[in-house]
Amino acid sequence: MEQLQCHVKQYAWGKYGEDSEVARLFADGHSTFQIDNKTPYAELWMGTHPDGPAQLKKCSTRLSTYLAKHPSPLTNNNSAKNIHLPFIMKVMSIRTTLSLQVHPTKEQARKLHESDPINYPDRNHKPELAYALTRFELLCGFRPAREILKNLQTFPSFRLLFGGDTYAKPLEDCISEMKNLDSVNQDSPEYQKSRKYLEDCFRFMMVPDRTDVHDLIAQLLSELDNGLRGAVEEVTVGVIRKMSKDFPNDIGIFSPLFLNHMILEPGQCCYYAAEELHAYLSGECVECVGCSNNTIRAAMTPKYIDRDALCSVLNYKMTEQKDYLVDERRVNGCVDEYAPDCKDFQLHRIRVKTNDTEKDMKMPTLDCPSILVIVSGKGTIEESTTDDQLIGQYEVKRGDIFYIPPKHNIRFTECSEALEGYRTFSDEMGPDHDNRLVTSVQSTVPTINEKMLKLDADMEEAPTAVV
Ligand SMILES: [Zn+2]
Repeated sequence: MEQLQCHVKQYAWGKYGEDSEVARLFADGHSTFQIDNKTPYAELWMGTHPDGPAQLKKCSTRLSTYLAKHPSPLTNNNSAKNIHLPFIMKVMSIRTTLSLQVHPTKEQARKLHESDPINYPDRNHKPELAYALTRFELLCGFRPAREILKNLQTFPSFRLLFGGDTYAKPLEDCISEMKNLDSVNQDSPEYQKSRKYLEDCFRFMMVPDRTDVHDLIAQLLSELDNGLRGAVEEVTVGVIRKMSKDFPNDIGIFSPLFLNHMILEPGQCCYYAAEELHAYLSGECVECVGCSNNTIRAAMTPKYIDRDALCSVLNYKMTEQKDYLVDERRVNGCVDEYAPDCKDFQLHRIRVKTNDTEKDMKMPTLDCPSILVIVSGKGTIEESTTDDQLIGQYEVKRGDIFYIPPKHNIRFTECSEALEGYRTFSDEMGPDHDNRLVTSVQSTVPTINEKMLKLDADMEEAPTAVV
């Protein structure tokens, strides 16, 4: 087991200073780090991705370099200088909406990368799982057909945005023909046809340089002021009003009318793969994503918006919120598992109480590499081999992050303060980033890690940024 020095991203949408769990957690794990209350701390990255690589705390060697020098059956790739994990685990602290975005499939990512390596720096896909640490809100996937129909019939501004009689009407007519709108058969011809009509509406909405957006947004806000609601809950009206202040005149203000507004309570978890339109709104979460930094943005961002790529990547499925939720499965007395239909990652939540018995304090032994972050409490961990040879004993506390090699036994021998941690793992091989042409634009901003750390020679071996 190796303690890690990880990477903090200061994106503008992050919570500021002490308000940010990312900053507080990072400070608890890195004693020399001072929180600056004027700085947004958005994401803590725990993984090997070149845009935010973890390093071994004791010597500053990149974890990817360490994995290449210490091959295991799952990470063995003979001559590679860096071996990557297939996932990045993150903690996120969100103050304002992230951009409305979608991630490509592996096939789509490869094509995008080949045609535009600056904006699509990876060939890999990026499925995402979010586990709510606090109340966590996001927009995810198109609303069920009946809700989109209701909102088109309720809000004249939305109907105009979606193309009025030219594009919105065929969608309305098609949804109205569906047999049971509360439980739509997704194989039915009406449903399949409605996806095509929804795509037409969405493409019309995204036509560049539309001159009516300002007026339509003003109309929508006044429709809401006049009490129109359609399928929109009161809490979602608040989201639309906040967006209209944070992103004036942005077309994304309409997105809660056609996307699911999900509110996760602490402990709830959701997952979506490629092709799903989504935007995180607020709160704090543990996020697991594929080891990739490929994002296609639609709105609410100063970054590059690629309308054509966006419209062709979306799946235009109209789906119930519950389809995105991931149930927890009890593994043993201290571990619950969140395992979406995805090979890139699975998540364990570990909770150890001060009075737990010994058998409750053991984590399952995994055949694959994993990363563990402690988010609360204090205790002692013992690490041993499969034949019970003791390798090490560690005092652990909130903020500590560890790489755990395959087949190592980990158990808590003592817990002085109730302990909670998250462990991400996968049986898959990670992507090859050694031939990555460029590092994404956002990572060229100096990070606190680069200011804090003197990097050793191993760092020099890794691909360098081409700006
Ligand atoms: Zn995303």
